Amino acid sequence: MPRLSAITPSGPAHLGNYLGAVRRWAREGRPGDLYFVSDLHAMTTFYDPQRLRSRTRDLLALLVASGIDPDRVFVQSDLLAQLGPLTWLLECTCSFGEAARMTQFKEKSAARELAETPVRVGLFTYPVLMAADILLQGTAEVPVGDDQAQHVELARALARRFNGTFGEAFVVPVAVTPPAAARVRDLADPSRKMDKSARDAAGVLYVMDAPDLLRRKVKRAVTDSLDRLEYRPDEQPGLANLLEILAACTGKPVREAADGFSSYGELKDTVAEVVIEELRPVRERISALLADQPELDRVRRRGAELATARGAERLEVALRLAGLGR
Ligand code: ATP
Ligand code: MG
Repeated sequence: MPRLSAITPSGPAHLGNYLGAVRRWAREGRPGDLYFVSDLHAMTTFYDPQRLRSRTRDLLALLVASGIDPDRVFVQSDLLAQLGPLTWLLECTCSFGEAARMTQFKEKSAARELAETPVRVGLFTYPVLMAADILLQGTAEVPVGDDQAQHVELARALARRFNGTFGEAFVVPVAVTPPAAARVRDLADPSRKMDKSARDAAGVLYVMDAPDLLRRKVKRAVTDSLDRLEYRPDEQPGLANLLEILAACTGKPVREAADGFSSYGELKDTVAEVVIEELRPVRERISALLADQPELDRVRRRGAELATARGAERLEVALRLAGLGR
């Protein structure tokens, strides 16, 4: 079953995005799997237009540089002409109460209200746009973490309701749990996951960071004073995070990752070097792509054309079933 996955240009990509998502997509993708840069989703809270455009381009370059088939990659907003009408159909299929039950909205809007920043209607309706993303491409499986499972359930409910009310238009999608992958934590605060939208970059290893900067960040990673080189995530989360990164980059089991090291310092030196080597080819290919705008534009246009073609008939059927058109 083909799957659909996305990455939001809410900030520069980091090691967690790479090890936990993009590298896996490149290595374990099945024929028919699709990936997109969800730039429309990055507009639900404050953002800077210029930065949105450049981050979208950077993430597209990352996906392609990581070895994902460029024909399976697209940028969400390139499909706006189809997503707009489909989102409207689905908004008219979704009840207010159903949308209001989304826990991610409740959490995010509560946080905004606390900070006295406006809560955008787009933040409220974005799960419906996400349903449109999924239903337009007709992918059956959507691999998501716990935070997104409820949104896929909504897409599933809307597809069923639309099909049941108006006639068969959509593949009914299902949320699937992605295979367990490294959950990379913030090096400066191992109680949090490494995050694109982190306020403080000190503990975030960005894919495009220069080797020296990566080295400095790893050296300053928070550990503990127990001086015990063992994998004990609950007792020593900072150290465990470094071991997990080492294991993910070397392919060794995490429980053996500490073997042979005599100090945290020595371990950090090795972690820094393996991360630098892991990211080096990706960074180089991204730089090459970003330096060749015509090539990147060509990749982007082709991805958009293929994605548009995939959704065109389904959208037309849905619009007709919904009573639109002549
Ligand atoms: P944001 O702060 O905007 O939520 P993010 O870093 O969480 O950004 P997403 O765009 O939400 O990134 O997620 C893209 C992919 O990267 C998802 O598949 C997600 O599971 C994965 N991912 C994100 N952060 C990590 C992490 N720290 N470790 C492993 N995987 C991660
Ligand atoms: Mg996230």
